[in-house]
Amino acid sequence: MAPVAVVTGGSRGIGAACVRLFADRGWRVAVLCEKNAAAAEALCAELRGQGRDAAWQLCDVADEKQVSAAFGWVRERFGPVSALVNNAGISWTGLLQDMTAAEWDRLFAVNVRGAFLCTRAVLPEMISRRQGSIVQISSMWGETGGSCETAYSASKAALIGLTRALAKEAGPSGVRVNCVSPGVIDTEMNRHLTQADLAALAEETPLGRIGQAEEVARAVLFLCGAEAAFITGQVLPVNGGIVIG
Ligand code: NAP
Repeated sequence: MAPVAVVTGGSRGIGAACVRLFADRGWRVAVLCEKNAAAAEALCAELRGQGRDAAWQLCDVADEKQVSAAFGWVRERFGPVSALVNNAGISWTGLLQDMTAAEWDRLFAVNVRGAFLCTRAVLPEMISRRQGSIVQISSMWGETGGSCETAYSASKAALIGLTRALAKEAGPSGVRVNCVSPGVIDTEMNRHLTQADLAALAEETPLGRIGQAEEVARAVLFLCGAEAAFITGQVLPVNGGIVIG
């Protein structure tokens, strides 16, 4: 039976690119997203039309009960999970002193608590099967810190810490945990940037352009597959060279 991947935030952007690529490579894919049922259904219908197995559920990854219910559904619909992609995330742009505590809490609830809850939902089964790969989607801002993205940067740095610690904890049980750290990628998350902003970012990037969601998905697929069997606890930048070292 083909292996099962769960992609959180799989309705659009980087998550949807992961869903497409995993499905294309023969994985069965469970798509979780917060509210965009139409996009999730359209994506899964497209893939099923190509003979792939993909299905979706709405799930706010910050909500413990919804995560528990969603992973119960995954187990019933698909069986044991071989790969979890903790991709769901939100950003907040502005000066730190202008951020409310509620905005801070929500950002951390989605970006960090969400990754914790989803990871906890799959770990016992992965450990008992001595097989599984978990990929967190961090950000270059989690590595370097981004001005006017302080909370976002802190949340993405937390995912790097989670990756490194959990890789040590779960490695002896045969479970790998890695992180992909994208640079600037062409998705709705960056729609607030002007053409001039994007051009400046492209110019700052050694490869001379911003990235595509599929390019991040390829790194995620690599980390989940057999080619990465001896790789754990690592942060793989996919950023066109805008951050090096
Ligand atoms: P996006 O286009 O804004 O899509 C975000 C996805 O996350 C959507 O599927 C959304 O679901 C889902 N989501 C948001 N809140 C959620 C919640 N509470 N529970 C479940 N799902 C939730 O974002 P993106 O650019 O593809 O980013 C994906 C990941 O890559 C994020 O973690 C982001 O921080 C990271 N990243 C992005 C970039 C970039 O330049 N784009 C760079 C570095 C890192 P709905 O459709 O239902 O709203």
